[in-house]
Amino acid sequence: MTKFEYSPAPESTSIVDIKSEYGLFINGKFQPAKGNKSFETINPATGKPLARIAFASNTDVDKAVNSATDAYKKIWSKMPASERGKYLYRIARILQERSREFAVLETMDNGKPIRETRDVDIPLAAGHFFYHAGWADKLDFAGLGSSPKPHGVVGQIIPWNFPLLMLSWKVAPALATGNTVVLKPAETTSLTALLFAEVCQQAGLPAGVVNIVTGDGTTGAYLVNHPGIQKIAFTGSTEVGKGIARAIAGSGKALTLELGGKGANIIYEDAAMDEAVEGIISGIFFNQGHVCCAGSRLLVQESVLDEVTSKLKARMELIRVGDPLDKNTDLGAINSKAQLEKIHELANSGDQEGAQRWSPQCELPTEGFWFKPTIFSGVAQSHRIAQEEIFGPVLSILTFRTPQEAIEKANNTPYGLSAGIWSDKGSKILWTAQRLKAGVIWTNSFNKFDPASPFGGYKESGWGREGGRHGLSAYVKVVK
Ligand code: NAP
Ligand code: MG
Repeated sequence: MTKFEYSPAPESTSIVDIKSEYGLFINGKFQPAKGNKSFETINPATGKPLARIAFASNTDVDKAVNSATDAYKKIWSKMPASERGKYLYRIARILQERSREFAVLETMDNGKPIRETRDVDIPLAAGHFFYHAGWADKLDFAGLGSSPKPHGVVGQIIPWNFPLLMLSWKVAPALATGNTVVLKPAETTSLTALLFAEVCQQAGLPAGVVNIVTGDGTTGAYLVNHPGIQKIAFTGSTEVGKGIARAIAGSGKALTLELGGKGANIIYEDAAMDEAVEGIISGIFFNQGHVCCAGSRLLVQESVLDEVTSKLKARMELIRVGDPLDKNTDLGAINSKAQLEKIHELANSGDQEGAQRWSPQCELPTEGFWFKPTIFSGVAQSHRIAQEEIFGPVLSILTFRTPQEAIEKANNTPYGLSAGIWSDKGSKILWTAQRLKAGVIWTNSFNKFDPASPFGGYKESGWGREGGRHGLSAYVKVVK
């Protein structure tokens, strides 16, 4: 393969107007937190500060829940469903109109490449609002009982890996089904949620229907335990998810949990190899591997191990690591220092437990947080890098001889979120898919998302689905 030389092609940041300080979005207005408490958000590609953000105290969360309760009782639950749908359409169209602004801001706050925010995160976020706008006045026909009713006020907590996209997975179905929302974004990536608050204002969304409280885990925990909340929707780590399930057990609150994963990407010997290698690359290096459904365990049929490994290495030599705002960048910055340390710790355990590490030659920037695209071969099922979620650009390669062995190894995990199957033979794909314990299974593809397609996990990957009719069902009570 010829290696192309690229000139820098940085996206301009002039389209975004980052303020020095951001307030909480409560009752349709931005307001400071109690005692003016705030925290800093940085650009992980440079380590430089971007803005200060209000830190919501318990008093602020109380205000947000009260505002959502008022908006639910007085406005949103009384509004005809077709009118609710119009607001969602309006939000979707504004997201499209302002997509470049959102893409640049997301890239600056998160560190992910502009190619991905521009082509994946923001279009999909708008797509979720369009999709759910269409459902708003058709819920009686969604197969959710004859008269599905909203829960009321929903508390939503999201992680940092797909900030605006996870917001849209949460807010769009909640509003379409007639709930109002208090959302807490992740500490390191709140800026696009706050820009979304401006979109709510621009769309004329009634005050209090969407409230955004920024802060850390303590803000999230207070929201979870708030008596004014009727449902919690959480995306994040399994550890925090388990704590939330324990905290609200017996409270009568509804709960959906979208948690971690350790997805198996299975390559049979009869797969189309060049396509499969692209699927492996997308499975683990998309979004720096900060993906709950990443194909982080590669299971290769032994007879093609050498071929797959050498093609994979050749392809990895072409990955461009660096400035996330450059339109040619494939792999951007790691989201935070803490996440980088976690990746180093797990990768080091791979070395210590006897797996072989390989990365292509590439120069990493000197500022910010970076990790080379990395593969480990000779990985045993007992290794930590085969069992624990690394949430970074690190792939563990294991082998199998028979399809039965592939299934046993793929299912040998506490998680059950995603899997990939690569084969030329349809019957083998179906046989394999039937036996995999994973909520989402891609065949001869990986990391494909659609608002109409339910997404969620088995076992420690959580419960409930987001997207499609299944996702709607989490936001309604069926009243017979
Ligand atoms: P995390 O630590 O669990 O944080 C997720 C969110 O919960 C953040 O907003 C966080 O706030 C908040 N939080 C922390 N402690 C809390 C508590 N005790 N009570 C309530 N909220 C609390 O997870 P993360 O490290 O940010 O995200 C990565 C994880 O998310 C990975 O395990 C990944 O697999 C999972 N994920 C799953 C899906 C899915 O759909 N299944 C999608 C994306 C990510 P702070 O940011 O302030 O800590
Ligand atoms: Mg940030």
